[in-house]
Amino acid sequence: MEVRRSRRRARTVSAWREGPRTIVAIPARFTRAQEREWVGRMVERLAAQERRRRPSDAQLVARATELSRRYLGGRAVPTSVRWSSNQGRRWGSCTPAEGTIRISDRVQGMPRWVLDYVLLHELTHLLQPGHGQAFWAEMVSYPHTQRARGFLEGYAFARDGTDDSDVPDEPAGDDVEPADREG
Ligand SMILES: [Zn+2]
Repeated sequence: MEVRRSRRRARTVSAWREGPRTIVAIPARFTRAQEREWVGRMVERLAAQERRRRPSDAQLVARATELSRRYLGGRAVPTSVRWSSNQGRRWGSCTPAEGTIRISDRVQGMPRWVLDYVLLHELTHLLQPGHGQAFWAEMVSYPHTQRARGFLEGYAFARDGTDDSDVPDEPAGDDVEPADREG
C-alpha cells in the first residue's frame, strides 16, 4: 500500500494496482483523517470492482442466463458455464450437443462488456454453430461487439505477439481439438 500526495490533484482521489502494490493518490492538502477515510474507501471500492470482474462459476451461469434473456430471447439455455484454464488462445468454447460453455480464465479481470461479449458469443453458438450471417444476426442487438472484439485482438497482440484477428474460438468440440495451438 502506497499513498501518493499530489499538488496537481484538487479534489480527485484514485486507486489502482501496480503489480502487488496498491496505490492511492490523494490531493496534497488532505489531512491525515481525510487520508485514512479515503484510503479505506478507495481500497474497498477497488476490491468490489475486482470482485465484479472475477465472478464465480455460479455468477457466470447467472450472467449467461441474463444475457440469453436480454439478447437471445432466452432461447440459449446452457447446461453449464464455467471458467477454464485450458482454453489455449481461445477466449471461450462450447459443446452445443451438451450445452456446455467454458470461458478462458484469461477473460477474468477484463471489463464487463468484454466478458459479456465472450459469454454471448458462446451462447449464440448453442443456436448457430458457425460464424456465418445467421450467427452475427443473432447477436446484432448486443451493442459492444465491435469494441469487445477490438479489445480482445489488442490484448492478444500485446500479450501473445500475434495479430491473428480470426474469431478467437472454435464453435464446437472443445474436447476434440488440442486446446493449446500455440506450439
Ligand atoms: Zn465463435
